Amino acid sequence: MNIFIMGAPGSGKGTVSSRIKDKYNLNHISTGDIFRKNLSENTPLGIQAKEYMESGRLVPDELTNAMVSDYLKSLPDAKNGYLLDGYPRTLAQAKAFEALTDGSDQAVDLVLSMDVPKEVLTKRITGRRICKGCGEIYNVYYKAPANEGVCDICGQELSQRKDDNEDSLKVRLDEYAANTEPVIGYYDDKDMVAHINADQSMEDIWSFIQKTIDEK
Ligand SMILES: [Zn+2]
Repeated sequence: MNIFIMGAPGSGKGTVSSRIKDKYNLNHISTGDIFRKNLSENTPLGIQAKEYMESGRLVPDELTNAMVSDYLKSLPDAKNGYLLDGYPRTLAQAKAFEALTDGSDQAVDLVLSMDVPKEVLTKRITGRRICKGCGEIYNVYYKAPANEGVCDICGQELSQRKDDNEDSLKVRLDEYAANTEPVIGYYDDKDMVAHINADQSMEDIWSFIQKTIDEK
């Protein structure tokens, strides 16, 4: 089974991805991992990508696609299929990947879209606070500490990540809406998308996802 998982920041995509990977024994791949591997091993594709990155240009979709495809082929247990996270990020990547894999055992079978209303994403991200001592994560809207700004477990001060503010989030959500939502629409037209109501408990989300994958 080959799966793409899509979701905006704060959608719970990371948690769900690790559960899917563990239960279905899929290769969990993020494009970040693939880039790092090619760069550190100085592969021909990595060397090309480095030239773009060092001159401050975007790595072209064709290069990203070729790296993803090579990476999938290089996996020792590629037969188990994959869970691709953060890719395809644009419609051009989706179409190129399709051209590269259509009819092969690397073609995608299912697209999971983690759907959460924007107001909920905003509360999840901007409300997040992290303990400087033990790393416990709180949320001022959903999981507030007993005393404001203080960790329940270790008593140390809570802090907010620099990017967890409304302005940074807006940039990321706009980028997602402009680039990735058209990708979901593209697979919607092919009837390949399972839309997950990700504004419910993780247990409910997880049972829906297992049912979706098992029935596929
Ligand atoms: Zn703590």
